[in-house]
Amino acid sequence: MSDIIDVKENIRKVKENMKNSCLKAGRNPEDVTLIAVTKTKPFEMLMDAYNAGVRDFGENKVQDLMAKFEIAPKDSRFHMIGHLQKNKVKYLIGNVFLIHGVDSFELAEVIDKESKKKDVITNILVEVNVAGEESKFGTTLKDAKDVIKKIASLTNVRVKGLMTIAPYVVDPEENRQYFVDLRNLLIDINNENIDNISMDILSMGMTGDYCVACEEGATYVRVGTGIFGERDYGKENSK
Ligand SMILES: *Cc1c(COP(=O)(O)O)cnc(C)c1O
Repeated sequence: MSDIIDVKENIRKVKENMKNSCLKAGRNPEDVTLIAVTKTKPFEMLMDAYNAGVRDFGENKVQDLMAKFEIAPKDSRFHMIGHLQKNKVKYLIGNVFLIHGVDSFELAEVIDKESKKKDVITNILVEVNVAGEESKFGTTLKDAKDVIKKIASLTNVRVKGLMTIAPYVVDPEENRQYFVDLRNLLIDINNENIDNISMDILSMGMTGDYCVACEEGATYVRVGTGIFGERDYGKENSK
């Protein structure tokens, strides 16, 4: 299956779409970074993306992230984009570039504790369930600010921005308002000048809606299927 997927060509197309969307919205295309979501895909495909110039990789399971991290070229940056269990935090600390899915003060506390042990500061994003979908993790739009204020008191965790997983839709226009809401929340929180909080990252947009996300201010888009093809959910029930 994987040998008929042209990773390099797919990346070229995705990057071109990202650039056009930024230009359309009057943004600098260099302000958006592509994260290639390699979850469930073999390491060889990660290397195809690396050789096409990608340095940012997203995984949603700690074990898979670590397995690839250990053998990847040293200038690769690994992003934990999935829901993180507290008991697995310790494996990531010092290795992960950015943890996208932090949705509670309690999880941030564990990240802080493990980061202190290793004498590092860990960068995180707070996940917001903008659309209020019951099946999704994340704080509500309403609670995000309070969660971030509490996290701001922790010394070894830095909140660098916000992340959202928009609903699965056929028409990406349906998600535009959610991206606008996330961007406005970031502006709103920055305007409060909370000690220790200065956020400039918006992680939003996937294969189905990354162009709209670029138009609405994304600084990271997370694209899997659009680069590596469909994932095989038959052998592994992971999303
Ligand atoms: C799987 C996943 C992606 C990539 O999804 P595609 O639709 O394949 O691009 C992006 N973000 C998160 C959090 C994911 O779990």
